[in-house]
Amino acid sequence: MQLHFSSGSPDSHVCESRREGDWIVFTCPQCEEFERRINFETGEHHTTPSANPYILHQGSFMPAGFEADHIGAN
Ligand SMILES: [Zn+2]
Repeated sequence: MQLHFSSGSPDSHVCESRREGDWIVFTCPQCEEFERRINFETGEHHTTPSANPYILHQGSFMPAGFEADHIGAN
């Protein structure tokens, strides 16, 4: 059996992003406790680290068209 990773290393997790008002919130599908939030008005940011500090978390957020692409997707 072979395992293929489409991006990054086995120790990196790709986060899911969503918008809450002025905040962009990144959560990890694999780490329930992990949360990173960034206020795009003030630049303020808070991170709740995952239990494993060696895991690299990465994510992206595309404000333009991001939500529109998902309207009607369910
Ligand atoms: Zn994670």
